[in-house]
Amino acid sequence: MTFDPVFLSSLTLVLTAFGGAFLAALWISLVIWTYRDIRARARDPLVHTLAALLVAVLNLPGILVYLILRPQRTLEEEYQRTLEEEALLQALEDLPLCPGCERRVKEDWQVCPNCHTKLKKTCHNCSKFMELPWNICPYCGTPAVGMRLESTSMDDALRNLKIGDDQSEVKVEL
Ligand SMILES: [Zn+2]
Ligand SMILES: [Zn+2]
Repeated sequence: MTFDPVFLSSLTLVLTAFGGAFLAALWISLVIWTYRDIRARARDPLVHTLAALLVAVLNLPGILVYLILRPQRTLEEEYQRTLEEEALLQALEDLPLCPGCERRVKEDWQVCPNCHTKLKKTCHNCSKFMELPWNICPYCGTPAVGMRLESTSMDDALRNLKIGDDQSEVKVEL
């Protein structure tokens, strides 16, 4: 069984052409992939060009060099990281300062551990923490000890007066 040498040479030619076309397509795809990848990772157009050129000239070894040298995080990941860091800083800044020594103290501390300044007082009725300027407990409504009671007692008196009026009106209607 023998092959026609003309047929053989043309077959080789076709195979070479296919191989060449495949390699060229692979080459171009690698350059395009690199260009897209570097655009997601860097803003500088010069860096984009250099990365694409590196892969265009060196092809597979170029891709290897690019993978080693490319920025670790994409711009999107970098942005997310910045957001997280800012949120963390904000949380730190939201901590109240001790009026005595200006150090950061926690919301539920009663006394500053550094300068022993009193930060909170406790309600004598329900034992929950109250801010120092508050003169009434927001949890149970008990007036704080030693605070001005006139305003609350005045409110109470007015409220009682109103209730009394309502009741009398109801009685009149009946
Ligand atoms: Zn302090
Ligand atoms: Zn209370």
